Amino acid sequence: MESTASDLWSRLLSAVKTGMPEQSYRTWLSGMSPVGLSDAELIVEAPSEFHVEWVEDKYGDALQSALRRLSGDAVSLSLRPSGSSAVGDAVPWVGVGSQEHAASPGTRNERPAGGRSKEPRKPPLLLNERYTFERFVVGSHNQLAVAAGHAVAERPGKVYNPLFVYGGVGLGKTHLMHATGHAVVAGPHDATVVYVTTERFMNELVGAIQTGTTPEFRRRFRQIDVLLVDDVHFLEEKESTQEEFFHTLNALHDAGKQIFLTSDRPPKELPGVEDRLISRFEWGLVVDIKPPDYETRVAILRKKAIDDDLVLGPDVIDFVARSCTYSVRELEGAVIKLLAYSSLRNQEIDLDLARTALQSTIRPASGNGPVVRAEQIRDEVAREWNVDPDSLASKARTKAITVPRQVTMYLIKEMLDESLVKIGRRFGGRDHSTVIYSIRRVQAKIHSDDEFAHRVARVRQLLQA
Ligand code: ADP
Ligand code: MG
Repeated sequence: MESTASDLWSRLLSAVKTGMPEQSYRTWLSGMSPVGLSDAELIVEAPSEFHVEWVEDKYGDALQSALRRLSGDAVSLSLRPSGSSAVGDAVPWVGVGSQEHAASPGTRNERPAGGRSKEPRKPPLLLNERYTFERFVVGSHNQLAVAAGHAVAERPGKVYNPLFVYGGVGLGKTHLMHATGHAVVAGPHDATVVYVTTERFMNELVGAIQTGTTPEFRRRFRQIDVLLVDDVHFLEEKESTQEEFFHTLNALHDAGKQIFLTSDRPPKELPGVEDRLISRFEWGLVVDIKPPDYETRVAILRKKAIDDDLVLGPDVIDFVARSCTYSVRELEGAVIKLLAYSSLRNQEIDLDLARTALQSTIRPASGNGPVVRAEQIRDEVAREWNVDPDSLASKARTKAITVPRQVTMYLIKEMLDESLVKIGRRFGGRDHSTVIYSIRRVQAKIHSDDEFAHRVARVRQLLQA
């Protein structure tokens, strides 16, 4: 595999080399490394995101067409920044953010188009263009949080500082955060807005410690006018990160800079987060986002239909809004499923199609599908994670056991809708807050880790078969 990739890459290089200046070849192409060949894609890594963009822009067409010729049209080229190069990189922020959070064009924080400048440049805005207030439906479930977001955008650093928004997965926290960031940028304040996930913050910090660039790290974070930090519940048990985070928050707050944080739980319920940090979280305004009610779910579906140019009849909207009750993400997933079914079968989206498409989304409790018992769920999860089923009810806290235990709780809740207390009892008398916590961990991981999501989906499918 590896050798095929490097083979192909070196043949590709020789093919394009003759057509370009030696200097450019050495600067841009010779330093890239092939990492794999899969699914008809040759994957090649460059030292930074900037490098990728440059090569794509200048040599992308030449490379692609040469590769098509070499491979008889079978393989295309895919460039990406090398895994961890952004951590501790001499150029701050490059490589931060995925495609999804690509820098929006036309903002003053945009990266300069030319080469690396000597000046410390402003970090790119890592805001998703789709996550704006215009696209955000306001309902009773998120009204307060939205009002707070607007207030912060109008007077950053002056009201609600920090603003702390919490709620379950897929309820719109990240969207609201980005929308607030966009609104600040669009407003009259010449503010540097930075969006960062807690994970990113931690990785950068670890990178800075490893490379002895902590002062630089501090300086960068303390220059920011509006700092948006997503998912701070990931700080739990990370002591050194908490320490640095605490000092960053203090420094920004003292300088009158705005801080906006999100979490899946209120500050007081964050286990393993230091008290002094929790009290900082509570300095400003703490506000939640709840699952949307039926009317809001209908409004969100209507809005998605308009935004994405879809025709969804009122009966279909009603059906989806009744089937997906937990989160907005679930609603969006359902719409995507409808689209997939409709194009697969070449049929209009009507109620029948919606019923078929969403069958697996609808819980067995509502009458569809076979009835599953909790023990079967436990056994199937234990098999998937290769652990002893009995150990799941034990007190053991090793990671090998904790993860499948949390998944079992999650699936029991999801598939059987048992009460939290009852689930806790099944697992050696754990209390209901532990069960909630476990379920949320699984939801968060499903969202962030595709492989994990697939494993959970696989177990569910086996159980439903
Ligand atoms: P969270 O960060 O709370 O897990 P996200 O902000 O990622 O949730 O939202 C999940 C998806 O649902 C996103 O695609 C987002 O655009 C959409 N979404 C959430 N709330 C709303 C809303 N009120 N109106 C429109 N779309 C929403
Ligand atoms: Mg989020």
